[in-house]
Amino acid sequence: MSALTVTILGSGGSAGSPQIGGADGAGDWGELDQAEPKNRRTRPSIVITAPGGENLLVDTGPDLRLQLTSNKIKRIDAVFYTHAHADHIAGLDEIRILNRLLGAPMPTYADAKTLADLEKRFDYAFKPFVPGTFFFRPVLETHVIEAPQTIDLFGLPVLVFAQDHGFIPSLGLRIGGFAYCTDVKRFDEAAFGALAGVRTLVVDCFTRGDAHPTHANLAQVLDWVKRLTPERTILTHLGPTMDYGWGVSHLPPGVEMAFDGMRLEMN
Ligand SMILES: [Zn+2]
Repeated sequence: MSALTVTILGSGGSAGSPQIGGADGAGDWGELDQAEPKNRRTRPSIVITAPGGENLLVDTGPDLRLQLTSNKIKRIDAVFYTHAHADHIAGLDEIRILNRLLGAPMPTYADAKTLADLEKRFDYAFKPFVPGTFFFRPVLETHVIEAPQTIDLFGLPVLVFAQDHGFIPSLGLRIGGFAYCTDVKRFDEAAFGALAGVRTLVVDCFTRGDAHPTHANLAQVLDWVKRLTPERTILTHLGPTMDYGWGVSHLPPGVEMAFDGMRLEMN
């Protein structure tokens, strides 16, 4: 049995970096040093690999195909959605290829509101699978989550809890000492309770600038770190002020920026 492994597929914000634009059209890097490869970021997503080797994909953003191929992940056993913003769901159609590799409808976990939003935008993925036919479209096998709830995935107890993402809620995940909290602006006391004792925290930190209406900024995250005292805090959903090199020289010990392809091993 190996340890729980987490692969950061994408560490960028909703537009990725560089985002479309720039003086010559090759991309707008904001305050990011384009010579630093870790500043090239796709949309936020992770894969959690269970000790038995099963892969749980968290969100299906628009960069999903490149994320899976560049990280050499050839099979996904279940999908979890944190919320239905486009940067977390726009790659849903790729699930049809994952269906073929799995040979079955894709077990898909989300809350009722997210599933309803997904069905509105990808209605064809919600039609029942006809056994014996080819996966010419994605087919989801849906499981409704009512946070807070602990679900069993591949023998792992996964605690799912609600987060405040500004105008809508999102879902956070806790497995043992690990937690993934993307797209969060505020934690209520229940969420702090769910995070108590976390050792490795991957958390939204869109900006080191002023407070943002839907995402945490660095000042907020550092307050959370003071309260939760994780051994390791990894910032994700990084926007155009979150230069990787700046982080290396300015972030306090135990706090670092994620990068695409980062792997975390946990016992
Ligand atoms: Zn969002």
